[in-house]
Amino acid sequence: MNASETSGRSDAVTDQLCPSCQKRPIVTAYKYPFFRGYVLAWSHGERRSLGCCSCVRKQMLAECAKAVTFGWVSPKALLCTVCCTPVTFARALAVRPKPHKVRELLDELGIPTNQHDLRVNDALYSVAAAMIKADGYAEPSEIDLAAELLARLIPDFQKDALVARVESWKAGAAPGEYLIFLNKFLNAKGRDMLLMLMAGIALADGRADARERKQWITAAITLGWSKADAKARWAQLEAGESAPAADEPEHVAT
Ligand SMILES: [Zn+2]
Repeated sequence: MNASETSGRSDAVTDQLCPSCQKRPIVTAYKYPFFRGYVLAWSHGERRSLGCCSCVRKQMLAECAKAVTFGWVSPKALLCTVCCTPVTFARALAVRPKPHKVRELLDELGIPTNQHDLRVNDALYSVAAAMIKADGYAEPSEIDLAAELLARLIPDFQKDALVARVESWKAGAAPGEYLIFLNKFLNAKGRDMLLMLMAGIALADGRADARERKQWITAAITLGWSKADAKARWAQLEAGESAPAADEPEHVAT
């Protein structure tokens, strides 16, 4: 599927317009290096362009022109300019739609893309499946509790979908990228609910496995907790000091 710049709006990652021309939709994103030499120092880094193909191409070509103009004063900058600018130039000429890159960059910036709700739900199924299989086994009690808790978070939750996700999830695999995604888009309450959901699943079979503990603590750290806080909280949960429960389903996504 290769959406062209003018058609395929319904397949577009986002309906937001290109920040440069404000006319065409955002369809592509590129990262490329920049170099500047000065008499006493040099600077370098990475630029990112997001927009329509035409504007992104122009920005990359403009960067090449600047490198040729300013990227030679210091020897290091000259070397980098000579090595990298032709690559950026060639990439600029070949700019094409990259929906996957657009999605990555918008996720990184915390900007919801099209099909956002579906992606949040999908990530929730995956996080639950990862927690259920953290200790290598999918216990029925864990699946039942996960289903009960997810049904409060996902309006059209389907237990079959959860069971299918659990079956396909590799035992012990971490839900890293899904948590990073959810961390961007859940508010503080949503993040807490997610951690309580994960703890509830881990403890549903009445015992806490070391792998479940590790999975939960890693998740808490991904969601912004300090390691010390995460460990202390897990110890409380394991000791049953507060029953994990997710009460109110509303407004967990930002
Ligand atoms: Zn544009």
